[in-house]
Amino acid sequence: MPSQSSKRSNSAKKHKPALAPELVKVRLESVYGPIEWRPRMIAIDELIFTVLTQNTSDLNAERAYDTLRKSLPTWGQVIEAETEKVAELIKHGGLSNQKSIRIQKILVEILKRIGHFDLEFLAAKPLEETREWFTSLPGVGPKTAAVVMAFSLRMPAFPVDTHIHRVSKRLGFIEENTTADQAHPLMEALIPEDDRYDMHVLLITHGRQICKARKAQCERCPLNKECPASTAD
Ligand code: SF4
Repeated sequence: MPSQSSKRSNSAKKHKPALAPELVKVRLESVYGPIEWRPRMIAIDELIFTVLTQNTSDLNAERAYDTLRKSLPTWGQVIEAETEKVAELIKHGGLSNQKSIRIQKILVEILKRIGHFDLEFLAAKPLEETREWFTSLPGVGPKTAAVVMAFSLRMPAFPVDTHIHRVSKRLGFIEENTTADQAHPLMEALIPEDDRYDMHVLLITHGRQICKARKAQCERCPLNKECPASTAD
């Protein structure tokens, strides 16, 4: 019987990439080294932290998260607190009025669904069922869901952030007019399950270090012979 994800892959829009993902992985590993999965936070913590990273830097989100957890160490306390107090505690993360409401709504919804905040059971469910569980929470989109699934639950979801979106367009993995949200199923259809975590980390690292937003450093890039967007001689 085909797995949920392979069924999804078969039904996702087909796009023939300019470069084979396997080749890109091998070349990027030659620069950035082999990637190992490392556990980060438990799923509920990762979920709320990822909401805090929306529209801001990881550094600002970390400050907001740390302040929130110091003042209100349990998620139950965050639900009980005045929304204005939560907004004040997370102000370093930006959009604190919207995010405080969103965080409280998410926590209330989780408590309503399962009566606790232990989300690790979702790792045993089929990929699409878990994705649906997360994206049906208030204000949780495909990227936030994929981050929690990939980094906390060790599931083969592929989060597409701004770096991966840009690099994937330049490499021809996705079309120029594909949005980041649209890119999630397309990238999962392109990249084998076992390679998704490694490719996520490799493409982000490449986007930060060489294939930068303002000016891609194509002359230093291990893909500059094949990349359709290369400006190297
Ligand atoms: S060749 Fe240039 S545009 Fe293409 S992936 Fe490398 S750095 Fe990015």
